[in-house]
Amino acid sequence: MNLVLLGPPGAGKGTQAKRLEERHALVQLSTGDMLRAAVAAGSELGRKAGDIMKRGELVPDEVVTGLIAERMDADEDGKGFILDGFPRTIGQAEALDRLMQERGKQVDRVIVLEVDDDALVERITGRSTCATCGEGYHDLFKQPKVPGVCDRCGGTKFTRRPDDNEEVVRARLKAYHAQTTPLIGYYQGQRKVSAVDGMADIETVQKEIDEALAGASA
Ligand code: AMP
Repeated sequence: MNLVLLGPPGAGKGTQAKRLEERHALVQLSTGDMLRAAVAAGSELGRKAGDIMKRGELVPDEVVTGLIAERMDADEDGKGFILDGFPRTIGQAEALDRLMQERGKQVDRVIVLEVDDDALVERITGRSTCATCGEGYHDLFKQPKVPGVCDRCGGTKFTRRPDDNEEVVRARLKAYHAQTTPLIGYYQGQRKVSAVDGMADIETVQKEIDEALAGASA
């Protein structure tokens, strides 16, 4: 099964992708994570992408499509992929259809996480991540039980994404509405879309996604 998670920044795509990975033995492919790794490694691609990401704009289609193709081939023994943050433009969606077809696969389901714009700014600007294990936290909604100590691994260093500030979040939302929302119609044309209320708590969203997947495969 290959899934696309669609939704604005802060909708919970990464959180739900990690949970889906554990429950369904799927492989998460996050172009945002791949690009951040390239930035951290200081590669030429990372330097170019880093400037674009700082502005909250989209990296060119051919760059992200190339990253996805590489990772698909590296993980081809997996049961399937959860695409998180890709595709983000019609051009990327068409490229993904081609990449899947060439490998005898297809996008089976597209989960759209629906969240109000106003809630997103609050969600994104409060989030942080354990630098050791990657567990996600939020200043208001999910604080560690012991302040400053990760619940999962005991780590004490937390990081925030440089593009998680209000100004850049607004630019990312603008890019989402202009370039990514047309994908909902694209996948509705393929009868693959299930909409899920992303405003609910993490457990409820997880349950709704599972129900959508069970309904789709029934
Ligand atoms: P994300 O972690 O998915 O929120 O992505 C962070 C940033 O990486 C975005 O604001 C874009 O600048 C860039 N990015 C991630 N995925 C894509 C994509 N599929 N197409 C273009 N740019 C992307």
